[in-house]
Amino acid sequence: MVDRRVDAEALDRADPLAAFRERFVITDDRIYLDGNSLGRLPHATAERLGAMTADWGARLVTGWDDWLDAPRRTGDVLAPVIGAQPGEVLCCDSVTVNLYKLAAAIHRQGPLVTDATDFPTDRYVLQGLATERGVPFSHDPQGAGLIVRSHVDYRTGALADMQPSDTPTIWDLSYSAGAVEIDLSDIEYAVGCTYKYLNGGPGAPAFLYVRKDRQAALRSPIWGWFAQRDQFDMDRAYDPQPGIARFLAGTPPILGLAAVEEGARITTEAGLPAIAAKARAQTQLIIDHAPCEVLTPDVRGSHVALRHPDARALTAALIERDVILDFRAPDVIRFGVAPLYTRYVDVWDAVERLTNLLAQR
Ligand SMILES: *Cc1c(COP(=O)(O)O)cnc(C)c1O
Repeated sequence: MVDRRVDAEALDRADPLAAFRERFVITDDRIYLDGNSLGRLPHATAERLGAMTADWGARLVTGWDDWLDAPRRTGDVLAPVIGAQPGEVLCCDSVTVNLYKLAAAIHRQGPLVTDATDFPTDRYVLQGLATERGVPFSHDPQGAGLIVRSHVDYRTGALADMQPSDTPTIWDLSYSAGAVEIDLSDIEYAVGCTYKYLNGGPGAPAFLYVRKDRQAALRSPIWGWFAQRDQFDMDRAYDPQPGIARFLAGTPPILGLAAVEEGARITTEAGLPAIAAKARAQTQLIIDHAPCEVLTPDVRGSHVALRHPDARALTAALIERDVILDFRAPDVIRFGVAPLYTRYVDVWDAVERLTNLLAQR
C-alpha cells in the first residue's frame, strides 16, 4: 500500500510506462486527471498533423488516392486496441451517429433498451429511434429487441461483464477503449470514442465495430456515397460495399483520422496489459486514501467517482489549485487516470489537495 508521498515516488521510478509521459505535450505543472474526457496531445500527433496539412497543401485533390481508404485503415490500426480483427472496425463520424447507424441497422422489432443512468447521448439516440419506429423505449432488458450498454459506466467507473447475449446488444466502449483489456471475439456490435483514453483530439472521429459474420446482413440507414461499391461510377443504383465500409456515409475527416491512428499506435506500443495494470494501481491509490464516499466498485475502469454534497464547489476549488478533473451532477467528482502520462505522485498530490480542502472546512 502507498502510505506516503515517497511510496508514490518509488512507484513512478519503477513504472514500466514512465517513459511514455515524455511522448505527450505537457506545458505546465497542473495535474491533469481529466484524460477520460479529453486525452493529451501526443508529440507524434502534432508532427503528423503538420505533415498531413503540408500534404493537403501540396497534393490537393490528388491526395484522395491515398485518403479514400483512411476510415478502414485507421479501423485496422484501432482493431488490436479493442481486441477486434482487421476489417471489423471503421473509424468515422461521432459515437452518436455511429450508434444511430448501428442501432437502426440491427433493430427489427421490440423495445429499445438502455440503462436509466447511461450516458445521455446513448439514451437520446435510442429514445429517438424508438419514437421513429413506434416501439417502446425502456430500461428493462426483459423482452428487449435491442440493448445498448456501456462497458465502463461514465459516472461510477463500474466495468460491466461483457458477455454474448441472445438479445442483440451494442456495447459502448467510449470509457474502456484504451483503458482496459478488451476481447470482442464473442461480441457482435460495438461503438466507441477516440478522444478520451485514445488521445485522438477534440472531435476526433469515433469507431464502429461489427463482427465479420454479422456485416453482410446489415445496412446503414444513411445511404451515403462512401459506402457505395463503385463509388465513382456515379450513375449506378445504391449497392453498398460488402465489408465494414458499408457503414460509411460521407467524406471522412482525414486530419482527424491521422490523429486517431497516432493515438492508437502509442496505446498499442505501451500495451493494454501494462496500461490496465497501472490504471488499477492508480485508481486503488485514490480509493485507499479517498477522504469521502467512493462510488466506484472493485471491478472498474480507469476513473474513480467520489461523492460529496459539495462536489461542485470542491471541483472548482481543486481546479483553482491546479488539479484538473471534473464534476458530474449532482454530487460526483471524477478522478480519471491516464496511465500513459499520469504519475503516481500526481494521483497522490490530487487526493492530498482534496483531503486538505475538506480538513479546512
Ligand atoms: C464520450 C461518450 C460519447 C461521446 O459521443 P460523441 O457523439 O462522440 O460526442 C458517447 N457515449 C458515451 C458512453 C461516452 O462516454
